[in-house]
Amino acid sequence: MSNECAFPPPVVAVDVVQRVEPVILYGCELFAIRPTVYAKLDALQGSWARQILGFSGQYDFRAALSVAFCGWRQRLGSKANGRATVYLAKIQLLPTEHPTARMVLASVSTVGETWVSSVKELMFTFPVPIPCILESGLISNDDLTRARGDAKWRKILVTKYKTQVVFPALCSRDDAEFHREASKFLLGLGVTYYDLVPQRSSQGWDRLLPLLNVEDWKLVKVWALIRLTGKWPATWVGGSENVVTLLQCPRCHQQHITVLHSLYSCVGTMADFLDSDLMPHVSRQFPIQCFVASLFHSSVSAEVDAARAKFVGRIILRLLSEAAPL
Ligand SMILES: [Zn+2]
Repeated sequence: MSNECAFPPPVVAVDVVQRVEPVILYGCELFAIRPTVYAKLDALQGSWARQILGFSGQYDFRAALSVAFCGWRQRLGSKANGRATVYLAKIQLLPTEHPTARMVLASVSTVGETWVSSVKELMFTFPVPIPCILESGLISNDDLTRARGDAKWRKILVTKYKTQVVFPALCSRDDAEFHREASKFLLGLGVTYYDLVPQRSSQGWDRLLPLLNVEDWKLVKVWALIRLTGKWPATWVGGSENVVTLLQCPRCHQQHITVLHSLYSCVGTMADFLDSDLMPHVSRQFPIQCFVASLFHSSVSAEVDAARAKFVGRIILRLLSEAAPL
């Protein structure tokens, strides 16, 4: 609905975290007994990213990259995983006579599958396995004794465990997925996504908010799609799928052109380039790898980021509209 109201994508992305995620993650500590749910949560979050970025091409979509592009620090499945792990830690520090602590203690000697055994199993599926709080080496026997009778101390220890043990492990899960998807070659740009965005957390587009209007954000989405796929966003102009090459350049008539042709080497788009706000910052005389990096590498400054997104978005949409029907 936020999209339909024409809110800028970074605003919608923040809105999702603040308003939608809490509803979806309510009671997620219990998901541990059905671990297949985590992949479904990741897929759901991917579908949100797809809508925010205006993705239509079924085969181009890389959820981990798009989710990171939206500025979301963690995958939804990781968040739910972390919540279960931290909840177990809270229970393990409770006074021994607490009913929940007694229940957990009783479940340890149970042969069948329990919530506790499921959480512990999950903790060892991470690229960096998560030890439970009692085995993490973070708390001494004195800490544990004090925690049993002091709620504030329990909170301090759990926060320490969350930030020093759990969060890095969750990041390892998300980073591994990001690197897997980012290492695929983007044919149309001649680089991998990893070459352009080496760090998952180096995204950031909220600083463009004061510089762009509603129409400009459409251009940012086109820029984003090209950065993520290296393809012509033909679905934006009614095509059935995004494509690596167009049959013929509508400006210079060269055949089988990639997006890089129109941005870098086409004589027919030189006037568009000279007319853009990018002129003071980028030259077509740059070596091609340097030119690609200038347009798509991690953030430079808000002004340059806005100028390059508008330049790319405008040229690409112009050429697509001038090209033969796709
Ligand atoms: Zn051309």
